[in-house]
Amino acid sequence: MNFSIKLFRVMGIPIELHVTFILFLAVIIGLSLINNNIFWAVIFILLFVSVVLHELGHSYVAKKYGVRIEKILLLPIGGVAMMDRIPKEGELKIGIAGPLVSFIIGIALFVISQFFDVNVDGYPLLYTLSLLNLMLGSFNLIPAFPMDGGRILRAILSKKYGYLKSTKIAANIGKSLALIMLILGLLSLNIILILVSLFVYVGADQESKMIEIEEIFRNIKARDIMTPNPVCVNPDMSIEEFLDFMLKHKYFGYPVVENGELVGCIGINNIYRKEGIVRDYMQKPVVVDENADINEILKKLVYADRIFVVEDGKLKGVISKTDVLRAMNILELKEELG
Ligand SMILES: [Zn+2]
Repeated sequence: MNFSIKLFRVMGIPIELHVTFILFLAVIIGLSLINNNIFWAVIFILLFVSVVLHELGHSYVAKKYGVRIEKILLLPIGGVAMMDRIPKEGELKIGIAGPLVSFIIGIALFVISQFFDVNVDGYPLLYTLSLLNLMLGSFNLIPAFPMDGGRILRAILSKKYGYLKSTKIAANIGKSLALIMLILGLLSLNIILILVSLFVYVGADQESKMIEIEEIFRNIKARDIMTPNPVCVNPDMSIEEFLDFMLKHKYFGYPVVENGELVGCIGINNIYRKEGIVRDYMQKPVVVDENADINEILKKLVYADRIFVVEDGKLKGVISKTDVLRAMNILELKEELG
């Protein structure tokens, strides 16, 4: 599902507004009109132009490392450049590029505003915007995930401690910082601080979990975690028979196999009447090669409860979300025990 609206492309990258951003913008504009003061609405829009430029800074360098950038998405809390991956060797430069853009804009506007400024409703526009850009650059340099500073810190630490450990250090700093912000936010009843603290906590947590999974699973292939020789059903089996079959085997989903080839899949959620045969209800199966890596498996499991491991059209095994979780727990234990 896509809750965003595409504006235009810059450097081939679509700039998209998330629906929450549009609502937020509408509220700001509404408040400005009610108060008969357009300054904050103008500043808000220009701040997000600055955020886009900041993200384009990251994207420009990332592209040099061959990163594909899906889009730049604007949320009320900031912007994200969605990259398919961040290459370890480029992380330092990619991380610095965004804040660098913000600092250059901030300093340039500050200098200009000393000679000339635009007054909107009695406020100096360029001066205010210069401060906001300097704040944007500084905030992002805080050395904690998910801020750019966290990436920069990890890139520096990972030369010495390795990628996984550096990620954990940067994530722990991020989480501690989030807790401090949360406490300060609660004490001062500052909603924005509370929201930012949650954003930082979730971001730090996600990043460290993702990297942990990636490191642990790095060499794991589909064939290592699949359940081999799964129970299959024939497409001509009647639904009444199939219900008894499910009761006997107690899985929620099954591959449908005809003449030794995988032709579909069927599960408890596909049946809504007891008339007909399996063929009438079966779905197109999601398949992976037995050499598929964990990234590919996880991506496909987002859209399917179970995926099928196939070689030359022949079914080799099944991977369900539970299989991945179990394999992860076992591999984690293995890693801990050394
Ligand atoms: Zn950034």
